[in-house]
Amino acid sequence: MTKITPQPGIMDIALYQGGQSHVAGVKHVIKLSSNENPFGPSPKAIEAVRDSAATLNRYPSTDHASLRDAIGTRHGLNPARIICGVGSDEVLQFVAQAYAGPGDEVIYTEHGFSMYPIIARMVGATPLMVAEKNRHVDVDNILAAVTDQTRIVFVTNPGNPTSTMIPEAELVRLAEALPQTCLMVVDGAYAEFVADFDGGAALVDRFENVVMTRTFSKIYGLGGMRVGWGYAAQSIIDVLNRVRQPFNLSLTALAAAEAAIRDEDYLTFCHSENARLRVWLSEELAKVGVPSDASCTNFILVRFEDQAEAEACDDYLKTKGLIVRRVAGYNLLNALRITVGDEEACRRVVAAITAFKGGVA
Ligand SMILES: *Cc1c(COP(=O)(O)O)cnc(C)c1O
Repeated sequence: MTKITPQPGIMDIALYQGGQSHVAGVKHVIKLSSNENPFGPSPKAIEAVRDSAATLNRYPSTDHASLRDAIGTRHGLNPARIICGVGSDEVLQFVAQAYAGPGDEVIYTEHGFSMYPIIARMVGATPLMVAEKNRHVDVDNILAAVTDQTRIVFVTNPGNPTSTMIPEAELVRLAEALPQTCLMVVDGAYAEFVADFDGGAALVDRFENVVMTRTFSKIYGLGGMRVGWGYAAQSIIDVLNRVRQPFNLSLTALAAAEAAIRDEDYLTFCHSENARLRVWLSEELAKVGVPSDASCTNFILVRFEDQAEAEACDDYLKTKGLIVRRVAGYNLLNALRITVGDEEACRRVVAAITAFKGGVA
């Protein structure tokens, strides 16, 4: 018998469940379960991917200077204080790896992203879940849970799967009240869907213990390419770069992300289509008795009478080729998360849920 055993905490990790993309026996499904951009990546990113193929014999850049410059230009940030990762998930992992370990606590919130406890356990730290209030992050609950062992607090703004935002003043209050030995990570995966929002960059500039993470997986439509980034104080970026593998991002991924972030017209198009369609979708569903909080993201979290009705609706949508996300695992028992698709997808969702609720579709 083998005596080989994994490090403490590893076997406590519940494997991440991705959004479903197939339904047995149903053709032409529309996947609305992973908050992907329904319009695809920028045509310029596709072109950059093609062009990169000819030089795949070469190793990629190790410092990502060109992509960091493009990100810096787009957001008015100092590129030296940006780090790029294989999705923002990898940046979150760098933070945990560098700043937390056995005996340390990592706080995340009740409806927070399921990667946070996974990442905490990966590094042997103890994840601690804090209750939210009516699907909103509650700063007092977080502060009450902080101990001398707390090293990281993860918050998502706007939240997934809640779609709600934490008011700026509340984030400032949290950053101010946290001990200087504790990092606050503001995950801005959906920041681009909010108009005139910096995703937390100003907080990073104001507080040395705040880290902002961002991704190319959502509005930029590059989930399949795996690129994300983080912005933090120089001292923190210098630490994170030490746990980053030098060739973590492929030549193709770097080229795609850079082309995507330089294509501002496409970004504007995706932002405005999403804003228009999510309002229409949530208003139409509210009319048939399926309410949702005002969304700040590219999905809505619709609520049903109870868990049984939410599950019955999910099953019904599947028969219509519409795949949405159950969120019972996020302690949202009576809800479903629906990505805002293109216009046709939104119309199909409204028709199907109207029919499910007994109306005329
Ligand atoms: C989608 C998402 C991310 C992005 O993950 P990537 O690794 O960049 O694809 C991060 N945080 C939250 C809350 C998300 O929903």
